[in-house]
Order: sequence, then structure tokens, then C-alpha cells
Amino acid sequence: MEIPKQYDPKQAEQNHYERWEKQGCFAPEINRDPNAPAFSIVIPPPNVTGSLHMGHALQHTMMDVLTRYKRMCGYRTLWLPGMDHAGISTQLMVTRELKKEGISRHELGREKFVERVWKWKRESGGQITKQMRREGVSVDWSREKFTMDEDLSRAVREGFVRLYEEGMIYRGNRIVNWCPNDQTVLSDLEVQKDPQAGKLYYLQYPVKGGDKRVTVATTRPETMLGDTAVAVNPNDERYSHLVGSTLMLPLTDREIPVIADEFVDPEFGTGAVKVTPAHDPNDYDMGVRHNLERVVVIDSNAKMTEAAGAEFAGLDRYKARAKVVEKFEELGLLERVVDYEFSISKCERCKTVIEPLISTQWFLRMNELRDEALRLLEREKKPQFVPEVPYEKVYSNWLENLRDWTISRQLWWGHQIPAWYSKDGEIIVARSEEEAKAKAGTDELTQDPDVLDTWFSSQLWPFSAMGWPAKTKDLDTFYPTSVLMTGRDIIFLWVSRMVMMGMKFMGREPFADVFVTGTILDAHGQRMSKTKMNGIDPLEVFDKYGVDATRLKLASVGSTDIRWNDKQVESYRNFANKIWNAARFTLMNSEGATIDPESLNAASPGLPLHDRWILSRLNKTARDVREALSGYQFHEAVQTLYHFFWDDFCDWYIELTKADVTSEEATPQRTAARTRLLTVLEQALRLLHPFMPYISEELWQRLPGAHEQLLHQAYRGAEPTIMLAAYPEVKAELIDEEVEWEMQAVIDLISRVRNIRSEMNIKPSEPIPVLIGSPDEKLRAVFSGNENQISRLVRASEVSVNQKLEAPRASARAVLVGGAEVAVPLEGLIDFEQERNRLGKEKEKLRAESSKLEAQLANPQFAERAPAEKVNEIRARIADIAQRTAQLDQTIENLQ
Ligand SMILES: [Zn+2]
Repeated sequence: MEIPKQYDPKQAEQNHYERWEKQGCFAPEINRDPNAPAFSIVIPPPNVTGSLHMGHALQHTMMDVLTRYKRMCGYRTLWLPGMDHAGISTQLMVTRELKKEGISRHELGREKFVERVWKWKRESGGQITKQMRREGVSVDWSREKFTMDEDLSRAVREGFVRLYEEGMIYRGNRIVNWCPNDQTVLSDLEVQKDPQAGKLYYLQYPVKGGDKRVTVATTRPETMLGDTAVAVNPNDERYSHLVGSTLMLPLTDREIPVIADEFVDPEFGTGAVKVTPAHDPNDYDMGVRHNLERVVVIDSNAKMTEAAGAEFAGLDRYKARAKVVEKFEELGLLERVVDYEFSISKCERCKTVIEPLISTQWFLRMNELRDEALRLLEREKKPQFVPEVPYEKVYSNWLENLRDWTISRQLWWGHQIPAWYSKDGEIIVARSEEEAKAKAGTDELTQDPDVLDTWFSSQLWPFSAMGWPAKTKDLDTFYPTSVLMTGRDIIFLWVSRMVMMGMKFMGREPFADVFVTGTILDAHGQRMSKTKMNGIDPLEVFDKYGVDATRLKLASVGSTDIRWNDKQVESYRNFANKIWNAARFTLMNSEGATIDPESLNAASPGLPLHDRWILSRLNKTARDVREALSGYQFHEAVQTLYHFFWDDFCDWYIELTKADVTSEEATPQRTAARTRLLTVLEQALRLLHPFMPYISEELWQRLPGAHEQLLHQAYRGAEPTIMLAAYPEVKAELIDEEVEWEMQAVIDLISRVRNIRSEMNIKPSEPIPVLIGSPDEKLRAVFSGNENQISRLVRASEVSVNQKLEAPRASARAVLVGGAEVAVPLEGLIDFEQERNRLGKEKEKLRAESSKLEAQLANPQFAERAPAEKVNEIRARIADIAQRTAQLDQTIENLQ
């Protein structure tokens, strides 16, 4: 059997993906079993502007592991891909492109601009889907969706109309977060709070009819031009006499009242606060409570309005601030200015400081939707968060504090709000312009120019992507989906909203489980970000170490945060090479044998110990991996597979079966041994496939045997591929603890003797006597029964097993399990004096290392600053050295 010496991941990656896709392996229709259970995932749709980053690679890997696993278990499997139109990001990007050509979006006009975005999307959008193919994701591309597609847009209009008709969507004049740069309203979640070193200004307002003044503290003096009250806490005795009096608002000719409101914190500033209902969300609420006037002094460009007074009108908000402060100083009303650190609200995208403005927008009332989601959690514990702590609480706390959601955006790219206005100001909400005209009884309608927040369409994704509002077969089969995989940063933005909408429109939760993945941080523990330029490009890692090795690393992240380290991927690349080499050995010794699953079905007592052992290990591994995956324990699954493949299969089973499979004579025993080795490898590759799809397929295709018979029965008749093979079942009767214990005793013995060989510098070609003493009769029988294996694997001249160990003084010894001991007499094997010297030098070196480490621990500066894990590491090393030194002393003494 020809197989290249070296594993070439790129070759394997190129060989299979296209074929899988063409043969329809990713589509649920490949499953021919009418009674197959369903498994489905919808992908968190990446932005059409996006390119693949580590966060995607992480989530996609885990989704693919589950999808491939369930597919191999015979589930009718759908992993539905798609992209999000990403309103603001896409609009900004195309606007920038236009700018390079010297055209502004407004010159182009809305219709042309939107055409231009579509053109961009066709030509260069969706890079990410090409990159995703490289990851090996088994998504059903034939069902790919885009949130601006006509069918998904229809779902958005339908959702909007229904919510409006039930009074949940309303149009209102409210205070909102406004980005003066992007010229759009933003939801609370699109606003980031940054710490800011600024100033706190103490301004004095004269009390009418006297010479008293009230001092208010503010970080935004320019807004005083829009003040319509000063508020104090009703329990604040310092001000109780002033409540109800009138103040002369400086720089204006307005008079404003002093009011009492519980909201005021007596500890902040002077305990008296200025109230600007038109430019601060808290003041807005206070204004509603006290029926205060709203004076708008800042416009949507962050410039002062006419209402700010002739002196200020047209000034930028920061210029106005300087001028207000200057004027107060001139009037002797500026009490003081102090340095002050506070948190400032910025636009998440362009970092412009948000201007709270009163504006007419569309809102979604959240209270009923929220209550339904909370009831679902309480009643049915859905969705089930993994890990439950802390995410369930994070989710429910947020829901409890939910406010109405501003859903309109002043953008051109997105779903235009399906509301029309008649000439006399009537609002008509309809599924289409025709419907609106019919409803209004006139053709003279204007559609609302705004679009919906991108998340409005994303929240419908689990069912809109399956065809809602039509009643489709996909919805019947695949809704609710099985699990949602997501990062913790969009639990609010997306997860909670999908739950609310799923309950509202489908009457069912959109997913049973929510698995929250960990985050990959850079080597210093920082979040990767474009602006910090500390991101790691998954495509580069793929090129360097192969997709499979990278996937194994990513899958092992599970739900914890990790710092990225190439070394770990490198070790998984070595793992891939190890698998390749083991398979290569197997194939080169496979003549006359083929894969035969029957050969692993029963462990006859006549079967050699190592064969019964590998059957037990194989079935235990299948059991443990299945258990781990059913609880989303990705890390455990990877560890189980890694140790099974590396330790049990490559390091031991191949060694133990080598004599049989490489025997020169073509005996039935040789054929049987070769068949078992091939078949165990085949099963192991299946276990590995969901994690390492490429190498497993590359090797599986090369194995001799009737591949079509290895497919899961649901895929009978399909082109053979490991991705449609049955995931190994657990045959509990083949898990044999007794056999594992016996084999482990032999493995332990062989390892100890090999250690002695290397520690004592015994030439590998030199045969050695091996003396074993064991008070336990059963153990003696195990050792005697495996004399040949032991002798072969440690190159022994003789193996003698006795109740009591009788060995010459100059022997190297080791303690085994069950109170047994092994000794290797050294007389004639090594030069005692030379060896004593060598060991003496080793001891010296260890002593030096140990005292250096002790000194480090004794240094108070180090002890204070070093992280606990570092200190523990040093202590462990010191203990190791002590143990090794004691061993050396013993050996040196034996060599006298
Ligand atoms: Zn902005």
C-alpha cells in the first residue's frame, strides 16, 4: 500500500471539501432514514463586511464538531449558514469607497447608493464564506441566507406589522442616543462607556428677588442653556427652604423653578443639580415627572440651536462649552472648576461622543415580550445555558432591567420601515406599498425613510432563515434548533431577542441550549481587536500547522478563556503527524487484510491480552467522547481522543501487536492481527473525524476494504466518506476493567525497565536480565503470561518472575503496582566507576539548581510579586529534585 512518508495537511485539505459539498453530504437530504431524529444549528450570521477571525474559527469549529458528530450518529442534520447585512458597518464601508472616488452618498442619492451596496456585496462581500470553506465547516450551502434577501425582508415586514398591530411597536418622541458623526440613533447596546478625565464645573444661578445663589455642578456647562429646572433631594435640609423658589438662568432671559426629586443624589456635587430634559436621559425622566419644558439647544450635528441664544447659535458643542464657561467667569458666577473622572458615552463604531437628543423614532415595547421570556426560563428552564453559571443570571438580570428598544436607524442600507405617511399625517403600517395604498385609500403616500436596526432582522433569524412566515418543511423539521453557539458579548444583543421573538411568532423557544464559548485572548491576556492590531489570523495558523491541528486546539477551548499560544497548535500538529505515521505503519503491514468491523465485535478468551485491552480502551473512549459531547464538554472530548490515539494506540497497541503483524509468514494469525489493527485504526479515525475532518478522511479513504459497508445505515448508497460512517457505538460488554488492569501492569513494568535502561546508560542493543518479584499471585501470572511481549519490548536476555525479588546488590530497581518490584542486575552491563562519576555529576547539577530555586523563594521581593502558580511550580521542582537525588544516592551506593 503506497502512502507518502510525510503528512501534508494542505494536500488533504484540498482533496475533500469540494467533493463533500458536491456530493451533498452537508445537506440533510443525504439522510434517507424517514424516522431519523433531527439536529439543527443556525450559524450566528457573520457580517457581510467581515473576514474570518479567531472568534469565528472558535465557534465554527465547535458547531462543526457537533454537526459532524450528530450526522455520523444518523441524525437528519442541518447547519444553516448565512450572512448579516450589517447596516451601519456596510453603509460606512461603501461610503468610504465612494469618498475615494470623490462622491458623497447624498450626491448619489438613496436609490443609487443602495444599488451600489448591492454591487459591492456581489463583488467583494462575503469573503468570509470562502474562508469558512477552508475551516472544513459542514454547513448546507444550498440553504445559505442573507438578511437582506427578499424572503428574509418579507419576514422582517411581517414581524413589524404584527408587532405594530398589537401595539408593541410605536412611534414616539423620546430621548435617544444620537451619533452626530453617523447621523443616526443608536440603541443602548451600541453605546460604549469609556472612562474620561474631564472637569466638573460649579456654576452659580442667582435666586430671584435677593442676592442668594444656588450652585450646581456639571461636566457639560453648554447644556445649561437648555436647563428648565434645578432639582434637589426632598430630604436634603440644606435646600428645603429653596424648593418652590425661582432662579434666574444666566446667559438667558429665562426663569426656572427649584424642584424636589428623589432621584437627586445629595452626595453629588453640591446636592443641587441642573435639569436639562432635552439633553440628558435622567433629566428627561425627571422632566416627565415634573412636567418640565424641553428646550432643545443642541442639534443633530452637535451644534447649538437658535434656542441657545443668538450668541451661541451655530457653535459646535465644545466651542459653546468654552464660551459658556468664559461668560460665567466674567459674570462672577463660576465658583470653581475641578478635575473629574467620569464615564463618557461614545458611539461603538466611530467613537464620537454621543449626544442625547429628543427625537421621533420607532420603539419596540419590551415588557410583555420580556415577561414571556422570563416565564419560559422559570417554568421550563429554557434556554439551558452552558455553562449555567454565570450566564443564566446574566441573561435574566438583563431582561428584568430591559427598557423599550429604539428600532429605527437613520441609514439607507437596511430594511426600510414598512410605514407610510399620508398628506394629512396619518400613519399606515403595511406589508407592502400596495397594501398601504389600499389601506389608506390614496396613492399619495411617503414611506418612512428610516431603516430598522440590524438586530431587528437578526432576532428573527432562527425561523426567518427557515422560511417563516411561510409554513415550511424546514420549520417543521428543524425548529426549534438544537443548540445556539455564541460568544458572551451578544447574549443581550441577540440571544435574548431571539428568545423573545421565537416565543412571540413561533410559540416555541428558538433553541434548546445556549453554549457560551470562551474567548481567545492574545499572549498577554488582552482581547484581540482590530484597533490594537493584536489579532491572530486563523488563516495564517491554518497555513502553518494545518486546519485539523488548529481545530483540535480550538475545540479544546470549550467555555473557558485562553491565551493564544502557537506551541499548543504545534503539539496538535505533531499529533497529526503521529496519527499519519501510525496509519502508515498499519497500511504498510496490511497485505492480505481488510477492515472488518465484525472482528471487533467480540473478545474471545483466546484473543491476546493486548487485543482484548485495545477493544476495552476503544469502547471506553467512544463512551467517554459521546458523554463529553452530549454535555458540550469539548475539552474533555479532545483530551480523551488525544490520549487514546497517542498513548494507547500509537505508543502501545502498535508496539504490542508489531510482532504479529510484521511476521514474515502469511499465517491466519498474521491476517487476523492485521485485520484487527486496521479495524481499530478505522474506528479511531471515525472517533476523530468530527474534530479532524481532513486527516481522518485522507487516511480512511486509503484503508483497504468495502467502505460502503461502513456507512451509517441512514446513508446507504451514498458515495463512501468517513463523514457518513457510523460514529462508533459503545459495546459495554467489551469494556473490561480486569483486562485493562492486567495490561496496565505490563505497560507499567515495561516503562520502568525502559527508564532504567536510559538512566543507567545501557546500550540499546545490549540484552538485559529482568528480575521480577511479586507477592501477588495474580500479578505473577500476568507477568509470566506476557513474558514474550516484555522480553521483546525491553530487549531482555531473560525474564524471571518470583514471589520474592532476589537480585544482586548492584542492580537498578523500581517499584511496580501491587507491591511488585523489578530489578536489572548491572554487573557486566556498565562500567561502575564511570557510572558513579556520571551520576555524581548529575547530583551536583541538581544540588546547584535546587539551591538557586531555594534562594529565589527566600527572596521576599520575589515571594510578594510572583504569581501563586509560579511559586507552586518552583516548590514542585524542588520536591522533584529531592526525590531524584535520593534515587541517585541509592543507585550510587548500589554501584560501590
Ligand atoms: Zn458614530
